[in-house]
Amino acid sequence: MSLVYGPVPSWRLGRSLGIDPVSTRYKTCSFDCIYCQLGRTRHPLAERKVFVSPQALKSQLEGFRDLQIDYITFSGMAEPTLAANLQQLTAAVKETLRGWPLAILTNSSLMPSPGVRRDLALFDVVVAKVDAPNQELFAQINRPFVNYLFHEILEGVRCFREEFASKLALQMMFVEANRGSATEMAEIARRLRPDEVQLNTPLRPCPMPPLSPTQIDQIEETFEGLNVINVYTGERPEVAPVDVAETRRRRPEQEG
Ligand code: SF4
Repeated sequence: MSLVYGPVPSWRLGRSLGIDPVSTRYKTCSFDCIYCQLGRTRHPLAERKVFVSPQALKSQLEGFRDLQIDYITFSGMAEPTLAANLQQLTAAVKETLRGWPLAILTNSSLMPSPGVRRDLALFDVVVAKVDAPNQELFAQINRPFVNYLFHEILEGVRCFREEFASKLALQMMFVEANRGSATEMAEIARRLRPDEVQLNTPLRPCPMPPLSPTQIDQIEETFEGLNVINVYTGERPEVAPVDVAETRRRRPEQEG
């Protein structure tokens, strides 16, 4: 199975070559978000383990040496911090495709763990998900399998911010369920001091309808004073994936 996909056009990261450090056939995640583009979580997992070897990754990366990209991004069909050998996998990428900055999209669920925060600190950009203002909406929207409570996850993100001098972005997905919580979520963002807030709404096929551009604009107003980008106004570069099928498996539509 391919561990590398894309490059994809990302409104957050430009031309992004994807690395899937878990690479199971079906989604493996510590959450089962109501808006997930990958369908229901068939492999719920809250503990880290090794899925792919650095040697296998290095060998697949050989075919991507000549690309012009902006980021190499760890994401895919899973929560990437579930890979217990993230450190070895990032080293494999740096040895094979030198010079490109590394990013990771995490759902934040394991950030209370110091070991996970240590691994996340290997990246140039960390995009951490926060979709709720409280435990109740966290349970409703993210449907977690981890034992950490919402406030413990937020504390993990806060600790990471203290430890991490590179770019930390918060991704906040807005749907009808949390639309009325924008003010509280903006307060959380202010306390966490990210370098950027990414306001999102599900534009790819999924069971949840997206909020409209007007609704996202209204939400953005409550984030005044923070550096905000949003999914409707973010620019997407022109880029074509090397393997369309492997890319579509992780990104049901390529824009976004
Ligand atoms: S964290 Fe990401 S992959 Fe996991 S269920 Fe939520 S949206 Fe899907």
